[in-house]
Amino acid sequence: MKDYQNYIDGQFVAEAGATWIDVENPATHEVLARIPDSSPATVEAAIAAAKRAQPAWEKKPAIERAGYLRQISAKIREHRTRLAAIIVAEQGKTQGLAQVEVDFTADYIDYMAEWARRLEGEVLTSDRAGESIFLMRKPLGVVAGILPWNFPFFLIARKLAPALVTGNTIVIKPSEETPINAYEFAKLAAETDLPAGVFNLVGGRGATTGNALSTNPDVDLVTFTGSVATGTRIMQSAAVNLTRVNLELGGKAPAIVLADADLDLAAKAIYDSRVINTGQVCNCAERVYVDAKVADALTNKLAKLMQATRYGDPGQIADLEMGPLINKAARDKLVGVVERAVAAGAQLVTGGKIASLDKGWHFEPTLFVGCQSGSEIMTKETFGPVLPVQTVDGLDEAVALANSTEYGLTSSIYTRDLSSAFRAMRDLKFGETYINRENFEAMQGFHAGRKKSGIGGADGKHGLYEFMETHVVYINHG
Ligand code: NAD
Repeated sequence: MKDYQNYIDGQFVAEAGATWIDVENPATHEVLARIPDSSPATVEAAIAAAKRAQPAWEKKPAIERAGYLRQISAKIREHRTRLAAIIVAEQGKTQGLAQVEVDFTADYIDYMAEWARRLEGEVLTSDRAGESIFLMRKPLGVVAGILPWNFPFFLIARKLAPALVTGNTIVIKPSEETPINAYEFAKLAAETDLPAGVFNLVGGRGATTGNALSTNPDVDLVTFTGSVATGTRIMQSAAVNLTRVNLELGGKAPAIVLADADLDLAAKAIYDSRVINTGQVCNCAERVYVDAKVADALTNKLAKLMQATRYGDPGQIADLEMGPLINKAARDKLVGVVERAVAAGAQLVTGGKIASLDKGWHFEPTLFVGCQSGSEIMTKETFGPVLPVQTVDGLDEAVALANSTEYGLTSSIYTRDLSSAFRAMRDLKFGETYINRENFEAMQGFHAGRKKSGIGGADGKHGLYEFMETHVVYINHG
């Protein structure tokens, strides 16, 4: 077993008097490693290092900053199999998906590095004679990135790569559930020529380490991915210093299936989306609205797919659709979700129980039909392999119900009719809509939640500019 050390100012530093957090494998319950629950003083040291490093980092040509990012992505590719195995062990991801996550992370870093030659300001026309107006885009300064556990490795890159290419420095706090991959990332970054202090890593719990990051006056942006409850708390803490926040929060993605849909395609896409990462994905289909004319046909297909799901310990079996939930609390939460859904009138088609495996936080893939508008199962994020279906009478009712929750991250619609697709595009109040497909999003897009699903967004050009501020300069040249 390993004790990991924080990475601050280019050094791995022992945490004095640390209390330690055990990191467990959710499939075997084996303790894999320990990380420090870093103190506010350690967080301060990491932020101070990032602040010291930032002016020189900003002054480097962007193409040079991109070069350091490409060194990191090359290291990731070199260690791709080992990194995927770490994610399987600490998060319970299937082997295939863990490998996709690692490879996508390297590609994402390269994609953000490509922006180095495309960062631009603007020259504006002036109303005054003899005046030029320049709109410059500048880095914010020090970024704090606070991460969840469900795509732990990719989310490092989603915060770090745009922050660094635009001239910011960063302090990352991984989730205490899945920090090992982040410490291994730090080891790889330490083997590159990246200047000290540009990237720092501190481990710890949210209430201690996370809170010390979001309340620190020297942080210029807190970029957070996680739950609505924590996002709300972080926004409150950041408000003390009026620190900017970028929040990627939870979802309750609706999938609308119209009577003219390709039902095989819809069932397979919705099923895959619901069980991938054991249902622990912010933008996977969390509720279905199906036209009454095709409801039975769709749910029969979904039930067959659910019943054929192979799940177990992804460390032992390569070819699985699902691993365990992240921890006992996440699994046990689903027991209550199922009980309350039944009490609210939903009919259980398949699943609904803790899986009968010797070890691991497994839950059976679960399908409900006859779900009611406004019930918990149709409105609150479950974050597990539980799929509720409600029958509707056509597009208008489906869109109204899809829009009726407090979330607005992603949504999907299955139809062969162009005008239905366009009406959905117009009327769905979400940051993203998938037509005849489900997640995932593309790195060149803009992943952003409306309503309680977040503030700001990530990816692409628009995501990049979340890490910059505009500075307008007026020149009177006579
Ligand atoms: P979480 O909110 O419990 O924790 C996320 C991080 O916040 C962890 O690092 C935690 O230590 C930290 N934290 C907790 N309390 C804190 C505090 N008071 N101050 C500062 N930091 C604190 O979320 P989770 O359970 O790790 O992740 C699951 C959630 O993330 C789901 O709701 C999911 O939908 C969401 N998510 C959203 C996206 C997106 O892009 N919108 C992507 C992935 C996950």
